[in-house]
Amino acid sequence: MTPATAQTARPAAPAAIIDGTAFATSLRQRVAFEVARIKNQQGLTPGLAVVLVGDDPASAVYVRNKGTQTRAAGMASFEHRLPSNADAETLLALVRQLNDDPSVHGILVQLPLPGHIDSDLVINAIDPAKDVDGFHILNVGLLGTGQKAMVPCTPLGCIMLLKDQLGSLAGLNAVVVGRSNIVGKPMAQLLLRESCTVTIAHSRSRDLPAICRNADILIAAVGRPEMIGADWIKPGAVVIDVGINRAERDGRSRLVGDVDFAAVSQVAGAITPVPGGVGPMTIACLLANTLTACCRIHGLPDPAIAV
Ligand code: NAP
Repeated sequence: MTPATAQTARPAAPAAIIDGTAFATSLRQRVAFEVARIKNQQGLTPGLAVVLVGDDPASAVYVRNKGTQTRAAGMASFEHRLPSNADAETLLALVRQLNDDPSVHGILVQLPLPGHIDSDLVINAIDPAKDVDGFHILNVGLLGTGQKAMVPCTPLGCIMLLKDQLGSLAGLNAVVVGRSNIVGKPMAQLLLRESCTVTIAHSRSRDLPAICRNADILIAAVGRPEMIGADWIKPGAVVIDVGINRAERDGRSRLVGDVDFAAVSQVAGAITPVPGGVGPMTIACLLANTLTACCRIHGLPDPAIAV
């Protein structure tokens, strides 16, 4: 762990690489340990239900990974598939059934949904106590007012990596580039909760490089391959790259982030790679949220793995 300092000099060495794969592995182990403990002590098995509508291949891969990792953590995994032409009422009926099922503690409806289904309607039909994605309007409001909420998995993973890297985040300037409901906005709320001074930037922001140069912590959640270059970075800053973009590099298709990793890692103090940074944290945090939901539903204290 390095102390939380807003450095002003160019670092002598390239940035430390924040290893999200290793952190996610250790988080999943801590979740599995706590799952085993509540099984033994309370006779409870946390259960996660994932609903997939349609046959989008990328979504199918995510859902399969979630199932595998859920079972590996000792939890019950329930997978529900509906055809792409399923109507909203069929999906809502399934959500209500899962809300009422005592063996299900977490419900995740894989997004995006087919265009004819209103995602907000479906998300807000999930029991907020089982809303392990943290997208239900009640959880959004609880997070925004500093109360105990289910927190969206990707921003939760980012904050865990930042606290592991920096310890206290209090007083640091944090810039979040991107204002989506699933990443940018909840990320900003979590940084505010940690007493950062938070700026949210977006496509209409003026002089984005200057805004970013003020950041002790820079979160990139844009979806534009390698948009953020070295001259946008305050020397020594901690850079968290949420972006996952497929781009042609050296004649091959590769996954790249929103940050130009090779250049920025010469200026930043620490940086997450893509892949292997934020990505692996998202499913690990989903497992953590399912365990937390199970504990809260049964009136148990939050598991020690929560931040
Ligand atoms: P999104 O809903 O498309 O939002 C993108 C945000 O970036 C918007 O707020 C947009 O501004 C802003 N933006 C777009 N172009 C910009 C520009 N040129 N300058 C400044 N801001 C710009 O995307 P998202 O769902 O938040 O995801 C963002 C990235 O994270 C994507 O690459 C996605 O694949 C990745 N992601 C990764 C994980 C993970 O597990 N690691 C999870 C979720 C998402 P406006 O609001 O003004 O349009």
